[in-house]
Amino acid sequence: MSHSPISHSHTAKRYPLQTAPGQGEAIAINDYVRWLRSPLPMSLNHINCYLLRDTGGWCVVDTGMNGDAARQQWLDVIESQLDGEPITRVIVTHHHPDHVGLAGWLCDSHRVPLFTTEAEYLYTCALNGASGDASRQGPYWEVTRYFNQTGISDTDRNALLDNKDYNHLVSSVPTAYHRVQDGQRLQIGSQQWEAITTRGHAPEHLCLYSRELDILISGDQVLPEITSNVSVSPTAPADNPLQDWLQAHATMARRVPDSVLVLPAHQLPFTGLHGRLQEVVAHHRERLEALLALMDRPKSAQALTTELFDKSLEPFQNFLAVGEVVAHLHYLLAEGRTKRELIGQVYYYGRS
Ligand SMILES: [Zn+2]
Repeated sequence: MSHSPISHSHTAKRYPLQTAPGQGEAIAINDYVRWLRSPLPMSLNHINCYLLRDTGGWCVVDTGMNGDAARQQWLDVIESQLDGEPITRVIVTHHHPDHVGLAGWLCDSHRVPLFTTEAEYLYTCALNGASGDASRQGPYWEVTRYFNQTGISDTDRNALLDNKDYNHLVSSVPTAYHRVQDGQRLQIGSQQWEAITTRGHAPEHLCLYSRELDILISGDQVLPEITSNVSVSPTAPADNPLQDWLQAHATMARRVPDSVLVLPAHQLPFTGLHGRLQEVVAHHRERLEALLALMDRPKSAQALTTELFDKSLEPFQNFLAVGEVVAHLHYLLAEGRTKRELIGQVYYYGRS
């Protein structure tokens, strides 16, 4: 398999819209699509949400994280940027709080339906319930064991097990939803959007592709500069999500042409989809080789993470980084290029 980052047959990455929408503003991408930014209280300080012209109003795609500033942003946009028309429905690409966080609030206060895939809906419900449950019963044994097996410190482990952020960052989850399936064509106003679902960053992530408008709403599946987190989750400790993620890139390249304008969930809209897909695949293949190079002797996932990132990270960033390293290690295990040994409670990974 070729590891070259960009084939010359693909167009170079370009950013046709240089200025992001400001507070309370929605920018027209064309007659059918508007773009707004919702604030996030973290180093990645925004998420892009999109509005699609629907019959009798506007369909929201992704909602932002639950919080006062993000709610005010929606109130301002609805009041002043949608030609006096209402919200007709809410589509969510996946269950992460910056995407689904205000879906419950928007759907309930406007009495409009939620559309998403089955797995993303069920994950939203499960995580919202599960962390509440943990506060009463203590962490589940296999989750604790997963943390211990990575070699993560007791302090970090306990901070993560105590984390109830999902409940704060997601407003109440609607107890009904409309299922979107892969390949389905959603009629939104006069336009048809094809649903493309992928696995790796999330279990059934939803992208929307319009052939007529030559636009892809990509969620976190395709981002122009940063790479989406691909982690083994403590709730599925034996998964191989990197395999799913690489498969997802092949799916996107097969089903969406290079000509599209990509509307991503973070950073700026861009063209040059196929080159970007190849860049991300190359990035993960480089990471696999970098990990193998660090295995001069058997090391824990935490030790490999610390060496790979070459700095200490605060607990949640470290959790994401360790999860991503474990994802790469599971991929190497499945390929037979790595072996591991359980010593005490910790897995040590070496070359096979
Ligand atoms: Zn995400």
